[in-house]
Amino acid sequence: MITLYPFYNWPVLYLFIGGFLIDFDHYLYYIIKFRSLNLKKASKYFLKPGLKDVLVIFHTFEFMIVFTLFCLYFNLYLLLTGYLIHNILDYIYLYKHNFFNRRASSLLMWIVRRV
Ligand SMILES: [Zn+2]
Repeated sequence: MITLYPFYNWPVLYLFIGGFLIDFDHYLYYIIKFRSLNLKKASKYFLKPGLKDVLVIFHTFEFMIVFTLFCLYFNLYLLLTGYLIHNILDYIYLYKHNFFNRRASSLLMWIVRRV
């Protein structure tokens, strides 16, 4: 990101927001599930083996579509770039470790599985 600063100036922070802060949904999930703000325990929780169908809302297809449209409408291309790179790297990680069932890809399907 620092190398991009001379080209984009302060909007390069959008790359950071889209690329890193998008994982805040993991912490949000932990807070809601365990009613705890313990960040250390939250980060350990997601490393546990056997996790299944965790809803991390910013990583669902529905959010991706809405977020992409939002970014395109408001010309937030750096935010979208960071977000898309983050998701591509996440999917490579999930594929490499065969972790696709750990996380819900679709909010609608996650809801249907609970009804
Ligand atoms: Zn992620």
